[in-house]
Amino acid sequence: MLQGGCLCGAVRYETDGAVFHESICHCSMCRRASGAPLVAWFSVPRPTLRIVAGSPAWYRSSAKAERGFCPSCGSALFFRSSLLTGEIDITTASLDDPARIPPRDQIYAAVRIPWVATIESLPSFAEARK
Ligand SMILES: [Zn+2]
Ligand SMILES: [Zn+2]
Repeated sequence: MLQGGCLCGAVRYETDGAVFHESICHCSMCRRASGAPLVAWFSVPRPTLRIVAGSPAWYRSSAKAERGFCPSCGSALFFRSSLLTGEIDITTASLDDPARIPPRDQIYAAVRIPWVATIESLPSFAEARK
């Protein structure tokens, strides 16, 4: 069982579905929707996703897709396409334990922000910058 939710805790979900398409997405729409330079996603069969607290709001980000987010705190949670009605995508970083679902590939790599490839070489602080 995978469990996760938004920053404020209003929306909580769980799934026991078989995970597939564990990916890092570099597309500009994911960047805008999340405010992050890239977004990790994984997919599960749509019927296996259960919303166990609250209710996500849905934003139609294109003619064929909607993005689910917490209406209170704005956390990006879900992506569903009208072309792929059997599945739903979940933001890996909204999991309680994101380490359980490592990404297996990267998509929209052609539009990756160039500096994303260099972050491992940056000075790193274990917690806040001193
Ligand atoms: Zn929230
Ligand atoms: Zn994307």
